[in-house]
Amino acid sequence: MRYSALSILLNGLRGNAGWRPAWRQPQPRPHYDVVIVGGGGHGLATAYYLAKEFGITNVAVLEKNYIGSGNVGRNTTIIRSNYLLPGNNPFYELSMKLWEGLEQDFNFNAMVSQRGVVNLYHSDAQRDAYVRRGNAMRLHGVDAELLDRDAIRAVLPFLDFDNARFPIQGGLIQRRGGTVRHDAVAWGYARGADSRGVDIVQNCEVTGVRQDGNRVTGVETTQGFIGCDRLALAAAGNSSQVAQMAGLRLPVESHVLQAFVSEALKPFIDCVVTFGAGHFYVSQSDKGGLVFGGDIDGYNSYAQRGNLATVEHVAEAGKALIPALSRVRVLRSWGGVMDMSMDGSPIIDRVHRDNLYLNAGWCYGGFKATPASGYCFAHLIAKGEPHETTRQMRLDRFERGYLIDEKGQGAQPNLH
Ligand SMILES: Cc1cc2nc3c(=O)[nH]c(=O)nc-3n(C[C@H](O)[C@H](O)[C@H](O)COP(=O)(O)OP(=O)(O)OC[C@H]3O[C@@H](n4cnc5c(N)ncnc54)[C@H](O)[C@@H]3O)c2cc1C
Repeated sequence: MRYSALSILLNGLRGNAGWRPAWRQPQPRPHYDVVIVGGGGHGLATAYYLAKEFGITNVAVLEKNYIGSGNVGRNTTIIRSNYLLPGNNPFYELSMKLWEGLEQDFNFNAMVSQRGVVNLYHSDAQRDAYVRRGNAMRLHGVDAELLDRDAIRAVLPFLDFDNARFPIQGGLIQRRGGTVRHDAVAWGYARGADSRGVDIVQNCEVTGVRQDGNRVTGVETTQGFIGCDRLALAAAGNSSQVAQMAGLRLPVESHVLQAFVSEALKPFIDCVVTFGAGHFYVSQSDKGGLVFGGDIDGYNSYAQRGNLATVEHVAEAGKALIPALSRVRVLRSWGGVMDMSMDGSPIIDRVHRDNLYLNAGWCYGGFKATPASGYCFAHLIAKGEPHETTRQMRLDRFERGYLIDEKGQGAQPNLH
């Protein structure tokens, strides 16, 4: 069923009795060509592109909870492609281009809002680093502009310019960056994959991986054994646990990251702003709530909730940037489990067994990557070779020493 203004009108006239569920609730079949572990954004997007772009429809997505219960429904919705390194930049720009056509492509309103992402700088050294990043972006055909202090003040007058411990000197803006409604991304991909024949099996936890020699033959699940020709892992914060079932130890640590939403306010922030001198970033949702967050809590955890020390830290950083925040009430906060890789960049690779594929290491930036991650992972699974934008995202880069260290800060999750 295609969604359109006409379908809303006609269904309205018929008492809204004609809507059908956006995806089925199938019983898993005994065997699939491809089984994907994880019904998050990346798993669902992979299934969608496998079916749509590569004609592989005998696919199951196995999700231990309900789809969207993981990070795809817990993130702060920011998309951008403002990356420095050649191992990252073309990939995230591919993702940005897919975001730009996504709603038409999967016929679902994901509220893609290219409202701009501003990274503030507070020192000469930081400005130089941002100039370098902006130039690298422009060399790759990505939009980037350096704004000085007055230009920032004109659009964000409520920031603390006058009394700040780290005065704002300017910012790097990517105007095509912005936000996307995260749940709708999961639902849109699920609907698109389902309509092409993919089985999305919820409440189906993978508990083991069955192998025969150098091949995976299927997975043990809470709904029984499911065989497959190819197994694709896209379990985000649980990546290391799931990979371990296949005998693989990943260079990935699981950390909790928190997010916060305030009471609804009149619109006053019309872009995404990141503080360059502390752990804080903020945007304003269409309902008026400020959506903000900071850094990971800094200790290993599989809990989808965080610690009060980080709440205090984020609140302090927020107030240092926007003093008026001290009067705002926080309505909700939550946490998600991040798959922090050692260099801060992801892994999209065939690993360890002939028919085992891994999609992991997204750290706190995997939402913006969802379309390209799904597309490139599907490309790898279907064709057996990496997409040109993911050639460097190999697992063995950690063994060979070819890290994609975007921030140039070394191999430790808390630095990325
Ligand atoms: C608070 C917060 C803010 C963030 N903000 C941003 C942001 O603004 N921009 C950005 O780009 N990124 C952001 N991220 C990161 C981003 O959300 C993640 O990197 C990305 O969503 C991970 O990919 P996913 O959607 O596939 O993960 P998930 O949605 O977590 O999907 C993985 C799925 O695997 C399932 N699973 C795990 N184990 C099993 C098993 N054994 N069997 C079956 N299923 C299993 C899980 O239940 C889960 O649903 C943020 C994350 C958090 C938590």
